[in-house]
Amino acid sequence: MDGGLWGAWRIALDRMQVEWWKSVFGVTDPAAGWRAILVEAGETDRLSTKVAMRAIGLANRLSVLPAEEGPRKLFDAAWDAAGQDSEAADDLVGPPTWVHRVHGEMRRIGLRLAREERASAPPAGRAARRAWLQRYTHKYAWPRMRATEASDWGERSTVDPDYARFGRWSGSEVGLAVVWGALTAGDPVRASKAWSGFQAWVQLRILGAFNCSRFGGATLPCALCSQRRGKPGPQETAAHLLKDCPAAGPQTAETLRRWGRAEVVDGVLGGSGTPEDVERAVTLVGQLAARVRRARPDAAAVVEDAEFQEWLEAMGIFSMVPDMGGST
Ligand SMILES: [Zn+2]
Repeated sequence: MDGGLWGAWRIALDRMQVEWWKSVFGVTDPAAGWRAILVEAGETDRLSTKVAMRAIGLANRLSVLPAEEGPRKLFDAAWDAAGQDSEAADDLVGPPTWVHRVHGEMRRIGLRLAREERASAPPAGRAARRAWLQRYTHKYAWPRMRATEASDWGERSTVDPDYARFGRWSGSEVGLAVVWGALTAGDPVRASKAWSGFQAWVQLRILGAFNCSRFGGATLPCALCSQRRGKPGPQETAAHLLKDCPAAGPQTAETLRRWGRAEVVDGVLGGSGTPEDVERAVTLVGQLAARVRRARPDAAAVVEDAEFQEWLEAMGIFSMVPDMGGST
């Protein structure tokens, strides 16, 4: 199995990659799933997977050097030791050479070295060896690695409803095209609006709500409804804002007419349709996000007040002090 150290490195690398994209998308909510974020970013592989593939490539390059070269001899000795360790004790942690890690990783994904996997012997000459190894990488290494990754994801997909949803949606690059169009038009105000619209659109896609929380998983009462009615509104989800919010404004009503109530969430967030459809969707979500941002302070005061009243009631303070809140 994976040594503890590589396990820790894997987590650190993947976190670094996900945190980078979260900052690009303006997502601070820890509930945002790493897969959803990487799908949005158009990244096919986790960073740790890319690093592991580099290491597998290096091990293979050493393993096909001429037998009399020093690095080849060192590699063979370490590789044999790793093989003996893994047979002796599956969970042996040391000695932690990088060759041991690579050996363990290759066992995990069911991959052998190119010199064992390929029918033909490695050719002489650097350029020919490189081409021979490239075929191994494309034909054996990446498919095995991605198959293992897919089964990891597949296991999660049974518990993760987002997986099915993302499988139907176009990639976020269709939304990014809106930003690109605005940038190349040479209008900085339009470009900046397009960028914040894109971020808001991606947040709705990843979180099902605008990013608002550093605590994770908490959806706030709708800021627009709370501000308008003076009491907390229903949960501020993408479905509420796009389908049901009476305060969402005329652009949303027009979008509802266009897509219909049943399809409006997929229509706006799915990224399908003509480039004009996508631009309309990103612009609409950007306008919604701006209105929600403006309403947030009022709404927060309304929600806090309601929570305070609830707390007073729960503590029985009204019954203890019957005339509280009355005139003095
Ligand atoms: Zn609302």
